[in-house]
Amino acid sequence: MIRVIQSDITLLQVDAIVNAANESLLGGGGVDGAIHRAAGPELREYNIRLGGCKTGEARLTPGFKLPARWIIHTVGPVWHGGKRGEAGLLKSCYREVFRIAIEQNVKTLVLPAISTGIYGYPKEAAAKIALSAMQATEKYFIEIIICTFSAEDAAIYNRQLAKAPASDN
Ligand code: ADP
Repeated sequence: MIRVIQSDITLLQVDAIVNAANESLLGGGGVDGAIHRAAGPELREYNIRLGGCKTGEARLTPGFKLPARWIIHTVGPVWHGGKRGEAGLLKSCYREVFRIAIEQNVKTLVLPAISTGIYGYPKEAAAKIALSAMQATEKYFIEIIICTFSAEDAAIYNRQLAKAPASDN
């Protein structure tokens, strides 16, 4: 099942939450900053040893002080107008997140709208990519939850979910 909620992602008690991180994995603004604050300084210490993560890839860490057991960090592309492989990189983020989640036997997974904040990816286009990836892997999970901060973002996902099947092309 795929559903949309409007919440602070750090409050959710699930098997894994996804972080829209940057390549350092050492914390930043937006959802990344909120996750690092809520997980506590142990997360940063742990991630120093990981040595970063390239755009389009993902890494697993414990949730530390979060109610979620795991964090899957992924680095979304910065939007440069769409001609620098942004769509392929965003698809890769979702593919890698789901690969790790399935491997880890995660059954309840929550994701933010990767790249659509500070990184500037157009929201509708990003939501299409996200939903298409979610629908392709839905059967491996009890629940995939899209967690948005704003009501406007939740509405974008709900509109697109209503006109299933989603397509990203
Ligand atoms: P990026 O750098 O990948 O664009 P951002 O963190 O700037 O990541 O934004 C990604 C999305 O996460 C945005 O829609 C933003 O509103 C949302 N967001 C920010 N903080 C939180 C939070 N605590 N919980 C859920 N979503 C959040």
